[in-house]
Amino acid sequence: MYYKMGRKNIILLGATGSIGDSTLQVIRRNRNRLTLFGVAAFSNIEALAKIASEFVVKHVTIYDTSAYKKARESDLFAKDVYLNCGLQGLTELASLPDADITVIAVPGTICLQPTLSALQAGNDIALASKEVLVTAGKFVMAAAKKYGRKILPADSEHNAIFQCLHQSSRKDLARVILTASGGPFRDYSSEQMKTIKREDALKHPNWLMGPKITVDSSTMANKGLELIEAHWLFGQKPNDIQVVVHPQSIIHSLVEFIDGSILAQLSPPSMTFAIQHTLLYPDRSEGVTETLDFSQVMQFDFHPPDIDRFPCLRLARETLVAGGTAPAAFNASNEEAVLAFLGNRIDYLTIPIIIERTLETVSCFEPQNLDQVMEFEASARQVARNKIASYVS
Ligand code: NDP
Ligand code: MG
Repeated sequence: MYYKMGRKNIILLGATGSIGDSTLQVIRRNRNRLTLFGVAAFSNIEALAKIASEFVVKHVTIYDTSAYKKARESDLFAKDVYLNCGLQGLTELASLPDADITVIAVPGTICLQPTLSALQAGNDIALASKEVLVTAGKFVMAAAKKYGRKILPADSEHNAIFQCLHQSSRKDLARVILTASGGPFRDYSSEQMKTIKREDALKHPNWLMGPKITVDSSTMANKGLELIEAHWLFGQKPNDIQVVVHPQSIIHSLVEFIDGSILAQLSPPSMTFAIQHTLLYPDRSEGVTETLDFSQVMQFDFHPPDIDRFPCLRLARETLVAGGTAPAAFNASNEEAVLAFLGNRIDYLTIPIIIERTLETVSCFEPQNLDQVMEFEASARQVARNKIASYVS
């Protein structure tokens, strides 16, 4: 692929978050190849201003209107910085004509329209936000195909698979095997799981991430979302996507070919490896983070996930098998349930119950266009909120 003067202009949606921070580390390390061209966040204007100043960024979107107004009235940003707000601002930023890659790193589905617009404008996508493909994989993948752009997976498991598939024919792929850390409650008994509180779920043993994905990792809903994401990215049938618990988070995923050979990608648990791979692809350069030290004793364990203690994984797989709008309902009800749990409105073990009850209530169908998906998604959220209300004490 040809990029202007060998440099790539990067737009970063979610610049002040965990993935945003890893992306900035990669850009700092590769200033000769990568230029930060535009950034967006929800409301953290101080952090955005710092980034804009360090990387001399001229396009900034602040989603929240009151934070945007505050930024305009302040002298936080240089006079020549173009400030924007709302979904329209986010969409315009994602699809700036001079950009090469738009990094999507905002939790949830808010970046769906910006992702589609970026593809239409001719940008490749480095995709961290799995919720986008889970909700509307059919339409996002179709748009990438139509406009001849790439969806480069920045989620570490999918990036691992993408790297393992390099120069292999997809017809030789038998199955993909997603690794999961198992989260902080991997070894909890069913009794212990009844006692889990917000602060317990916000501590991940291996990864430092935003609150939503940290809770998702603890319930294994995250692996469920990744299962669905893998289906869209690599075209695998549900039965050909396996999940295995690997507590060390060193092997980020594996692929098995039809002859039985298995390839894996390994690195320490830092998102900088996957992000750097997407931004420089197909090139490589020296990494940001220390690599593995094989002079030290290292152990790799694998065991199957326990879907009785982690029903979110079972529910996600069931929605993938059901197809149509079912995964969108899984995602929407999970988001609502996690929000309610983080707000101390429901117990930890109520999260999968909300998802299951929502899935039982909504009528799923094969969507013909994105509007149908969005309408369905909104109604599934409302169903989930009603279920949550009936659980709030
Ligand atoms: P964080 O919570 O750390 O960061 C969220 C970022 O999104 C912040 O910059 C936030 O801005 C911004 N944001 C939130 N809402 C909006 C909005 N409406 N418009 C513009 N920006 C917004 O999340 P993570 O970085 O952990 O996760 C981001 C995505 O990447 C998620 O979808 C997650 O599933 C995925 N992912 C994350 C991994 C990780 O290691 N963290 C690994 C693999 C995938 P502000 O600071 O102003 O609130
Ligand atoms: Mg992941």
